[in-house]
Amino acid sequence: MNIVVIGSSNTDMIVKVPRIPKPGETILGGSFSTAAGGKGANQAVAAARAGGNVTFIARVGEDMFGEQAVKGFESDGIVVDYITKDKKAPSGIAEIFVADDGENSIAVASGANANLSVEDVLKAKDVIAKADIVIMQLEIPLETIHAAAGLAAENGVKVILNPAPAQPLSDDLLQLVSILTPNETEAELLTGVQVTDIGSAKQAAEKLHAKGISMVIITLGAKGVYASTPEFTGAIPGFKVKALDTTAAGDVFNGALAVVLAGNKSLTDALRFANAAAAISVTKLGAQPSAPDLDSINTFLETNK
Ligand code: ADP
Repeated sequence: MNIVVIGSSNTDMIVKVPRIPKPGETILGGSFSTAAGGKGANQAVAAARAGGNVTFIARVGEDMFGEQAVKGFESDGIVVDYITKDKKAPSGIAEIFVADDGENSIAVASGANANLSVEDVLKAKDVIAKADIVIMQLEIPLETIHAAAGLAAENGVKVILNPAPAQPLSDDLLQLVSILTPNETEAELLTGVQVTDIGSAKQAAEKLHAKGISMVIITLGAKGVYASTPEFTGAIPGFKVKALDTTAAGDVFNGALAVVLAGNKSLTDALRFANAAAAISVTKLGAQPSAPDLDSINTFLETNK
């Protein structure tokens, strides 16, 4: 399963708080930790741990954060040959609050991620052409995403776009996407349909199909996922777990999904697998530290039939 992930790498600065502070408010009592993050990097790590052969295309700064991030990717067996060190911009950083109930609030300074260029993608064109699946998110320039999606489409390679963080996307770009994986907020921004239940998820999915996307997979948090695809349409419920930190639940879901979709599981089994990987991740603190390996996912699936 050859997976190419194109996206951001950040270092997360995490502060645990009783609740998310309001504007102008200072809250005491939080513990501090750092963890490797960034939607692209999280998905790359999640895919590698779930059993994929992953190449990660990204940019980091020439600093300690970038160096640490790349070391982490290497220890997960990810191919780092197409990670460029930016001469000027620092590595990406995210400031994250995690509340006692698992809710989070995040501010990102993109740094080098904002310079991931069309050229960076073209350097990896042979790897992209040979991939089973290319997966991207929206923490890098849209122009770069568009070029990569075009290159993948030309070579008959499926593109998963996780349209996060939410932002409007052109029809031209959406036409190049095979599988779109918004959460409820992102689905609403892209379609104008407020997604609150299966009925509204179905409505949103139909609007996205009309834009040329054949597989729409809307994640519904603890409720699981709604899929609208040629093979299967309906909801697959999430697993009941005690949520400690929902940071990167969507990333772990997407990384695991890329691996199973590149294999030959049925779509419903693939969605259960991705739900399981994401459920395990919300029981642990941190983005990349919380992504489970293949054995843990399979054991979880066995014990939660
Ligand atoms: P995002 O993190 O992008 O906002 P969601 O909140 O929709 O995405 O979560 C993505 C996936 O993670 C869900 O489809 C589900 O499989 C899993 N998940 C999220 N929150 C929970 C939870 N509290 N309990 C179990 N699974 C969860």
